[in-house]
Amino acid sequence: MTDLGRFARLGIRSEHDLLLHLPLRYEDETRVVPIAGVRPGDTVQVCGEVVASEVSGRGRRMLRVELDDGSGRLLLRFLHFYASQVAQLVHGRRVRALGEVRGGLFGLEMVHPRYRLVGPDDRLPQRLTPVYPTVAGIGQPALRRAIDDALARADDRETVRGEVLARFGLPRLSDALRALHHPPAAAGGPAPDDPLHPARRRLVFDELLAQQLSLRRAREARAALRAVPLPDTTLCARLLDRLPFALTAAQRRAWQAVSADLAGAQPMNRLLQGDVGSGKTVVAALAALQSVGSGRQAALMAPTEILAEQHQRKLEPWLAPLGVRVAWLAGSLAPAAKRRVRAAAARGEVDLLVGTHALVEESVELPGLGLAIVDEQHRFGVAQRLALRRAHGEAMPHQLMMSATPIPRTLAMTYYADLDVSVIDELPPGRTPVRTKLVSAGRRDEVVSRVRAAVAQGRQAYWVCPLIEESEALDLQTALDAHASLSAELAGLRVGLLHGRLAATEKAETMAAFAGGRIDLLVSTTVIEVGVDVPNASLMVIEHAERFGLSQLHQLRGRVGRGAAESVCVLLYRGPLSPAARERLRTMYETTDGFEIARRDLRLRGPGEFLGARQSGVPLLRFADLERDADLVEAARLEAQGVAAEAPALADAHLARWLAGRERYLEA
Ligand code: ADP
Ligand code: MG
Repeated sequence: MTDLGRFARLGIRSEHDLLLHLPLRYEDETRVVPIAGVRPGDTVQVCGEVVASEVSGRGRRMLRVELDDGSGRLLLRFLHFYASQVAQLVHGRRVRALGEVRGGLFGLEMVHPRYRLVGPDDRLPQRLTPVYPTVAGIGQPALRRAIDDALARADDRETVRGEVLARFGLPRLSDALRALHHPPAAAGGPAPDDPLHPARRRLVFDELLAQQLSLRRAREARAALRAVPLPDTTLCARLLDRLPFALTAAQRRAWQAVSADLAGAQPMNRLLQGDVGSGKTVVAALAALQSVGSGRQAALMAPTEILAEQHQRKLEPWLAPLGVRVAWLAGSLAPAAKRRVRAAAARGEVDLLVGTHALVEESVELPGLGLAIVDEQHRFGVAQRLALRRAHGEAMPHQLMMSATPIPRTLAMTYYADLDVSVIDELPPGRTPVRTKLVSAGRRDEVVSRVRAAVAQGRQAYWVCPLIEESEALDLQTALDAHASLSAELAGLRVGLLHGRLAATEKAETMAAFAGGRIDLLVSTTVIEVGVDVPNASLMVIEHAERFGLSQLHQLRGRVGRGAAESVCVLLYRGPLSPAARERLRTMYETTDGFEIARRDLRLRGPGEFLGARQSGVPLLRFADLERDADLVEAARLEAQGVAAEAPALADAHLARWLAGRERYLEA
């Protein structure tokens, strides 16, 4: 492998990356301690004269060197060595050795210390020695040399305004980098590897500022795009008249914001956030109607067939009576049916096309697309989201994204700053909060009785089986086993089964049977995770709840508590629990507040998981921690505004430095 290849494996692709390759830890070569004072277990540096040295042993040879510094003697032992080392470490030579002291058979010793020969006027280094993270094939000396060269060549120009640095007590970048690569020994204050060290905070600030500036760019670029205005709300008013319920205040606010965006000539880029069950679908329906009423098409994309199918079942009765032509497209549709739907969509004979990612296939054409709606947007990759919105003709369609995963404020301010966000922070009236019970697997029988009792009262229940190690086959087997044993244990009840391997039509039939009350207990894998809506289901059992993530548990629990009856969610767990699993279960027990759960989830998992980074490719912040550095998040946001307005050249320089050769922080 080439050096470049090896450096790339360390994430080093540019000069700037080299500068930002920070030490893992530091070694203190600035001080020498008397041998008489060292204890086993100490990592220290000593300096003395070689008084004896020999290569001993047959077969497996060993180099033994004895050092004397006047206060005492210490043995250096080498199991691997070169002839050149034997020649160097001879009687009378002065040697500085750094390593961990051990109590050996013949007194104190160091095994394979780092050492150097010293002359009479060799001075001790003034600064700590950096130890860098590295990979096979790149030694510390090579890495140090490369980084030191980069430091020497580094462009010292500042890209952050002096008054901002002063306000937050941040050093200049060049000083910060020197302080991190070569910190002075025994300086007061936080250690150089402490995240609160001002030099570290400086990097955090720079990174956040670059991100904010890049988000502003994305926003400006979007402002220059044109969309077809969709001003006609006649159909919307007619749906509102016919709905069996009134919108909640939060839904009304969200709807007003969406409606105003749609009427404008700039493409909407709005995220509609609302906890599970908060009623996002009706807002999506209204948005679709405003598009259709204004003479354009709309599309709604959901992450699974079950969910897309459910949207279809919900939207059709709302929209069809208003003369809106709703069609459905998913991978499982028969080829002939698919062709028919695609042809109708291309001729403009479909007003609202509902479906899965089948909607973003090449062959789907929506020549009059005015609005693209993406449900559970974090489930899709960036590319898929962009594909749905891809321009049809001159104008860019408006985009409405929906998510039940609440985004904590700091995260919203960073990753989602290019989006307008509406939050539905209120559940429709008449819901009773779900009670959560933690039950150990040893008491599974009681839980089974509880299912029977609920069904006896005319209620329905879910029984969710976990994913096993990402193995679909095993996953399927557990669901099959659970279905078999529950069917036996609950003889007389109608027990249904839902899992990912079923044909889409079978899934749809099972869901329809459950929604229609013809199934009492639905055993399923996590395919029901998102969006499913059956108000009469008031009991949910989650088996091996300790294996689920927090947001997944919250989503699952949101499937119950949708009717007036009190609902219960039983989290069956099997010990021993890891600390993280214990924390997740505790959180579920303590709160039903989606925002609080999201906050704790962020703490447990970090932002990567949250954003679905693995699929969306959102580069993560390297230095910043959104909770720890919340003050700098806010500061960077303000400074991004300030510097962009007052010193745009500086903003450009900052972006160029931090984003050179990188993806943008966000693709909307
Ligand atoms: P989610 O936000 O999770 O997608 P849904 O849109 O599926 O939630 O809504 C959940 C349930 O609440 C649906 O049955 C829906 O018809 C109902 N609903 C939505 N808004 C209201 C409201 N304002 N009053 C009463 N019920 C509502
Ligand atoms: Mg939904």
